[in-house]
Amino acid sequence: MTAQLDPALVVGNKVDRRRIIVRGIVQGVGFRPFVARLAAALELSGHCGNDDSSVFIEVEGPRSAVDSMCRRLRNEAPPLSVIVDIQIDSITPRGDRGFRIVDSRHLGNARTLIPPDVATCTDCLLEFTDPADRRYRHPFVNCTNCGPRFTVITDLPYDRPATTMAIFPMCARCRLEYDDPADRRYHAQPISCHDCGPRISFRKDGTSVTGDADVLRSVQDELAAGRTVAVKGLGGFHLVCDATSSAAVARLRDRKRRQHKPFAVLARDLRTVDTICRVDDVAADLLTSPARPIVLLPSRPKAFVAPEVAPHLDELGVLLPYTALHHLLFGPDTPPLLVMTSGNRTDEPLCFDNDDALHRLSDIADAFLLHDRPIAVPCEDSVLTTSRGRVVPIRRSRGFAPLPVALPAPGPVVLAVGAEVKNTFCLTRQDYAFCSAHLGDMGSLESQRAFERSVEQMTAMHAVTPELVVADDHPGYSTRHWAQRYSDALDVPLRTVQHHHAHIASLLAEHGRTRTAVLGVAFDGTGYGCDRTVWGGEFLAVGPNILDAQRAGHLRSFWLPGGDVAVRTPARVALALLAEAGIPATAELACSRALDDTERALVDSQLRTGTGCARTTSVGRLFDGVSALLGVCQRASYEAQAAIELEALARSAARPIPLDIAVASDVLDFAPMLDGLLTAIRAGADAAELALGFHHALATATAELATRSARERNIPTIGLTGGVFGNRLLSGLLQTALENSGFEVLTHNTVPSNDGGLCLGQAVLGIAMTSRG
Ligand code: ZN
Ligand code: ZN
Ligand code: FE
Repeated sequence: MTAQLDPALVVGNKVDRRRIIVRGIVQGVGFRPFVARLAAALELSGHCGNDDSSVFIEVEGPRSAVDSMCRRLRNEAPPLSVIVDIQIDSITPRGDRGFRIVDSRHLGNARTLIPPDVATCTDCLLEFTDPADRRYRHPFVNCTNCGPRFTVITDLPYDRPATTMAIFPMCARCRLEYDDPADRRYHAQPISCHDCGPRISFRKDGTSVTGDADVLRSVQDELAAGRTVAVKGLGGFHLVCDATSSAAVARLRDRKRRQHKPFAVLARDLRTVDTICRVDDVAADLLTSPARPIVLLPSRPKAFVAPEVAPHLDELGVLLPYTALHHLLFGPDTPPLLVMTSGNRTDEPLCFDNDDALHRLSDIADAFLLHDRPIAVPCEDSVLTTSRGRVVPIRRSRGFAPLPVALPAPGPVVLAVGAEVKNTFCLTRQDYAFCSAHLGDMGSLESQRAFERSVEQMTAMHAVTPELVVADDHPGYSTRHWAQRYSDALDVPLRTVQHHHAHIASLLAEHGRTRTAVLGVAFDGTGYGCDRTVWGGEFLAVGPNILDAQRAGHLRSFWLPGGDVAVRTPARVALALLAEAGIPATAELACSRALDDTERALVDSQLRTGTGCARTTSVGRLFDGVSALLGVCQRASYEAQAAIELEALARSAARPIPLDIAVASDVLDFAPMLDGLLTAIRAGADAAELALGFHHALATATAELATRSARERNIPTIGLTGGVFGNRLLSGLLQTALENSGFEVLTHNTVPSNDGGLCLGQAVLGIAMTSRG
C-alpha cells in the first residue's frame, strides 16, 4: 500500500503553461537572452519574443519551475532593464520541446519603451584592450549590455533593420555571435567588428585619411598640437581640444564666440579626474554609471587645467569616455584632459550629420574625426551634480532620454512644448511622460526646426497624435507660437499654463505626488506672471488638486531697466535694486563704474520714468544685482553667469557677514539687505563673506515666509523648484532650515529644476485640465 501523495506535490508537479507579458524597458537590454537562459536552467520549454510594446513569453513545465520562472523574471532581470508591469495568464499546455526566441511581432497599436544609450561596459573594454581579441581597439565595440540605443533607433520594435546599423551587413563571425543564445552579444542589435562595422575617417583641409591607425594618429597629432578637432560621437559632434593648454582653449573660445561659459572636460580615466577635482563616492558612481553624464565637481586648487576652461568658477564639469572612440582619442602623446563641448555654433542646434558638420563647423574646427554610422536622433550630454548625497540634474539628456517618468494614472496624449531656453518638450502616453533630450535655446530658426523634427520623431515613434497641446502663458515664446500653429493644424485644443505653476507641477510629477498639497517656492530668472509682470521669486500654494494654485508670497518687485539688456547687464540690475530701495548709487560702487556716462544716464532716466522697463520679482535678477554690487560680474556672457560666479565666491568664504532680508507680510524685502551690504562694502568688508552672507539671508527669509505660508494652510510639504535652485549653496541652506522646522522638503532629482524640466509640469497640468473638462 502506497502512502497518499501530498496533494501540493501533485499539483506542484503538474505540467503548466503560462503566457507572460513584460512591459517596461525590456528591449535592447538583453531581456530575451536572459529569459532563454532562465528557461534553460529551469528546463522549461516554450518561446519568447518582442512585439511593439513588450516582451512576450510562453513557458511550459512543472508548475514549481514555472512559478520560479515568474519570480526570477522580476528579481534577476538584466541590469539595464526597467520592468513596469508583468501580466501572467495560464493557458493550455502544448507539449513543445526546447525553448527558442521567435521573430519580432508588429502589433501596430501599443509601443514599447526605447532604451537610452549606454556607455561601453567593462566586458567590452576588456576585449577592446586585449591585443589578442578580434575587437581590439574597435571604435564601435558594444554588446547586449552596452552601446548605442536611442540615437540609432529609427523604428520599433527594436531590431537591427530598425536601426542606423541596418546599412552594415553583419560578417559571418558577428552573425554567429548574434545568433548564439550563449554569447554575450546574442541579439545585440548594434553588434559590429573591424570587418563589418562602421568606419572612421579623418578630414582636414579637403584631404581625407582612412584606416583606423592613420586616422587616430592624425587626430592625436592635432590634439597634441593644440588644435581643435570636431569629433562625431554617439548623439552628435563635439569640439575637442587640449584642456591643459590656455592657448588651445582660448582659441576655441574665440572661434566659438563663447566668452566665459564653462567647457566640459573629458578625462582619460577616474584617476585623472581625481587629480583635478575632489571626487566623493556619489560622484564617482555617477561618473562611471552607464549614463556617463558630465558631473560638476569641486576643482582642486592649482589643477593642471587651463583657467580658460571654467573662468571664475570653483567647479569643473567632467566626464569619462563613454564610447570606444572616445577612449581612442587618448594616445601616448595626447593630453589626458580634453575640452569636450557641443559641436554647434553658439545659439544653434547640435551638428549630428557629417555634411552639416563639415559645413557649419568649418571655421571652428581645424580637423574632423568622422564615422559613417548615421545618428538617428541627436542627443547632447547630460549634466548632473550632487548635493547632500543626492543627484541634482542640470540637463537631462544622453543616458536618460527617452526614459519616461511614470504618471499616477493613464491619461490622454498630451504634448507640452516647454519654455524658451534650455528647452525640452514632453509627450505623454498612457501612464508615461516622455521628456525629450535637451534641445537648447529656441531663439534661432534652426533650433525651432530641430524642435519640430524632434516632436515629429517622438510622436511617430510612439504612433500617437496629441489630443491636447500645452504651452507657457508667455505670449512672446516661440514655443507658444509653434504650439498655436501645431494645434491649429491638428485641430486639437491649446492650453497655456503659468510658468511657476508648471515648475511646481514638474516637481510634484517627478516625485509621483501630483495629488499632494505643496507650498512651492519657485525661484528663477524669468517667467510670465498672472499680472503680466516678470515673475521669478514666487511662493505658490498648489493642490491637492494640482490645478489649484494661489500666490502666497513673492520677492519685492523692482524695475528691470531695458528688459533683455538688463538680463545681460547685472550692473543695470544693481542700479535698479538700489533705486527701488531708495539708496543712492554712488560713483565708487563697482556697478556704477561698470557703465559709461551714456549708459548710466539712460538707465537713470529709465528708472525715473519707467520707459522700457518691466516690473519684476525675479530672484535670479536679485542674484545678478548683488553679484554686480560685489564687483563679481557686471556683464554676463551666458545665462546666470553672475549668479553662478557669486555662488562660487560665496563658497570660498570662511564665514558669512550677517545681512537681513526682511519678511514683510507676504513679501521678501531686499532693502535692509542692500543697506547692510553697502555699509559693509564701504567699510572694506570681504566680498566673499558678503556673498555668503547674502545666501544665508535669502535662505533664512525664504524659510520664514515659506514655513509661515505653509502652516497657515496646513500644508506639511514644501517644494523647491526653478533655475535658482541649481545653486546648491542656497538650496542646501534652505533645505536644512525647512527640515529643522519639521517640514518635508521636495527637490528635483529626476528632471532639472530649471526650464529644462518645465515641460513635465506643463504636461501633468494639461492632463489635469482634460480630466476636469
Ligand atoms: Zn558591452
Ligand atoms: Zn563583424
Ligand atoms: Fe523658469
